[in-house]
Amino acid sequence: MSRIQSMKKYQCFIGGCWGEPASGDYFESVDPFLAKPWALIPRCDARDVDAAVAAARTAFDRGEWASMHPSRRGQLLRRLGELIARDADRLASVEVQDNGKLYAEMRGQLGYIPHWFDYFGGLADKIEGSVIPIDKPDMFTFTSHEPVGVVAAITPWNSPLLLATWKLAPALAAGCTIVVKPSEFTSASTLELMKLVDEAGFPAGVLNVVTGFGPEVGEPLTSHPGIDKIAFTGGEGSGRRVAHKAAQNFKRLTLELGGKSAQLVFPDADLDNAVKGVVSGIFAATGQTCIAGSRLLVHDSIHNEFLDKFIELASTARMGDPMSAETQVGPITTQPQYQRVLSCIEMARAEGAECVLGGKPAARPECGDGWFIEPTVFANVSNSMRIAQEEVFGPVLSVIGFREDDEAYALANDSPYGLAAGVWTNDQRRAFTAAKRLRAGTIWTNTYRAVSYMAPFGGFKNSGIGREGGQEAIQEYLETKCVWMFYGKDVSNPFVMR
Ligand code: NAD
Repeated sequence: MSRIQSMKKYQCFIGGCWGEPASGDYFESVDPFLAKPWALIPRCDARDVDAAVAAARTAFDRGEWASMHPSRRGQLLRRLGELIARDADRLASVEVQDNGKLYAEMRGQLGYIPHWFDYFGGLADKIEGSVIPIDKPDMFTFTSHEPVGVVAAITPWNSPLLLATWKLAPALAAGCTIVVKPSEFTSASTLELMKLVDEAGFPAGVLNVVTGFGPEVGEPLTSHPGIDKIAFTGGEGSGRRVAHKAAQNFKRLTLELGGKSAQLVFPDADLDNAVKGVVSGIFAATGQTCIAGSRLLVHDSIHNEFLDKFIELASTARMGDPMSAETQVGPITTQPQYQRVLSCIEMARAEGAECVLGGKPAARPECGDGWFIEPTVFANVSNSMRIAQEEVFGPVLSVIGFREDDEAYALANDSPYGLAAGVWTNDQRRAFTAAKRLRAGTIWTNTYRAVSYMAPFGGFKNSGIGREGGQEAIQEYLETKCVWMFYGKDVSNPFVMR
């Protein structure tokens, strides 16, 4: 796949129209492999947020979308999925150029994303209420589920299209309208997606995109009185600020935040499979995933053997151009993140952890000027060290030994986060016990990094609030209304509760 060579200039998408931001300003988006700008992104501000929320509000409150039958909504979602499948190559290339993820991974994601629109399109006309056999005479009582309203969808830079899809598909199926704010580092693919939204035939204002920075766009959006619900994916600090804003007028809120997920390797595990699973958990996507399995808890009896095998495999990782089919580990997406990963590596060294692999920028010719860091492993880590407690969001693994199963569960749970965990064992009793004892939203046993449109995804503790994916996800975009209908003759004593 080839790169876009000349500078591409994007526009924002508000009320079904493409246009300049109110400021007239643009900022550069940088290709992480070339470390060179490749696109200009509109620098929106509160004025554009006002316009986008007004457009979404109008589309929600009146007009074609508001009165559209849910079956038709479902058709539109499925049509969008078809268009994404048609343009998957192009969208994948844009994503790779903007965030440096491997083309092979992005092409796979783009082939899979249509399933979200298909699945939630199918759910759009199956949002059913219930009749309550109420304990009062002459009363018919039922519930209905209505769209929550105008949604602010805020996404991070690591998987822009996938994480936007996790919000857009259920929100649209529920009948909401949306203002999307992608990360300032990776806005291009979300704007490309809007071209397909337009082509699919969604009414104007149902989907809007405002691009720019957290303080200039994210804050006005999250504090806007016209927003009913915020669906946020990003870091814990930003998530906390968003939650404060949401609390001002009790906006509905889902948060998908970070993680420090543990991979537990028990002595009875198939070690070769476990090695592959742990490599995939921390070095796939260059460790820049919320579900990175960044803490390896390995039983003392197999510690050295496992580590030797692990290093042997991790050392073979081919780094380089993410567009190339040969590449296995791409660059860090942003320069600030590159600096942060390097500073976490220094922090681990200063804490006394032993660097047994990598631990430095990758100075390989095939890495060019990109922001590459060698796959890095620290042994002799104590779980109380900052390197074991804080999210790095990069290719850095901390290895911690354990002797007893209870100790492994306690170590795994001794974290402010609870997004995911991996368990490697051939003992069914141990697998079930681990699944019960581990405090995380997703437990993978003898596998890792599997996601599906059918499965709920989200975090315990500081990893977030709410779930995306599966039938639960649509509930996050609905309000329940309870309707009471009295069909008796005489209203009873008005001074007594019925
Ligand atoms: P970030 O928090 O810096 O930014 C996320 C988004 O929030 C961006 O669009 C940003 O502009 C916006 N933002 C920043 N400050 C804001 C504010 N005050 N108000 C409103 N919006 C604001 O995160 P990031 O660096 O882009 O992404 C990395 C983080 O995302 C990691 O911590 C990672 O674990 C997390 N993440 C979580 C999941 C999950 O599903 N749990 C998935 C992917 C990434």
